[in-house]
Amino acid sequence: MRIETKSNIQKNKNKSYSDLLKTRQWQRKRKLILNRDKNQCLNCTSKKNLQVHHRQYQFDNIISDFVAPWNYDNKYLITLCHNCHQIGHANYKVPVININKQ
Ligand SMILES: [Zn+2]
Ligand SMILES: [Zn+2]
Repeated sequence: MRIETKSNIQKNKNKSYSDLLKTRQWQRKRKLILNRDKNQCLNCTSKKNLQVHHRQYQFDNIISDFVAPWNYDNKYLITLCHNCHQIGHANYKVPVININKQ
């Protein structure tokens, strides 16, 4: 398995990662995950400033790019409040998984 550097994650063709998170597709997926998690942080049960976290990033070898944020199986997405999300990213590195490897 090849490990991608963090800078590659921001790539996703011409759009920045923050642009991708503004899309309608992501808003729909985000809502779905928030509903599933009862609109609360899975870590501290806060209901404020909720965000959806990816437990892994997937690099698709067929398209030579990262999978769009909304194209993940729901099991890889969890609801966290802004605080827990920040702390999580500061303490753990999100693993990058290569998919469709030839
Ligand atoms: Zn929290
Ligand atoms: Zn995250």
